[in-house]
Amino acid sequence: MGSIGVALNGVSFFNQYAGPNNQPLTNEINSFDQYGGHPTGQKVYHYHLEPYYLTTKQGDDALLGFLLDGFPVYGPVENGERVTNSDLDEYHGHSHQTDDYPDGIYHYHITDADPYINGNGYFGTPGTVTQ
Ligand SMILES: [Zn+2]
Ligand SMILES: [Zn+2]
Repeated sequence: MGSIGVALNGVSFFNQYAGPNNQPLTNEINSFDQYGGHPTGQKVYHYHLEPYYLTTKQGDDALLGFLLDGFPVYGPVENGERVTNSDLDEYHGHSHQTDDYPDGIYHYHITDADPYINGNGYFGTPGTVTQ
């Protein structure tokens, strides 16, 4: 529960669960605005899914933010194809070159299906967040 990272526009990324007991997002999804975000009880506006505001502005294949381990998060499209969960490892990422990191880097992708942003833990060592 809480931030798992931050988007380039300063909005927090949250994981695929709603609330403190890992409830699925099914009910929370109804409260998402047209940009794919919503505020919490703690008044933290956040994204659990693709941040449509950013992917519309920057592109579906753009760098969208960073998770708490410092590795980048990219949009749902790569080389003109939609990335699916089966393209990614257990953390919801993989390593290769990107426009921003020509030497190659581990990175996460946002996809259309649960867990959307981050999988089972982080690739690197996560930092902490003050809510
Ligand atoms: Zn939420
Ligand atoms: Zn990739």
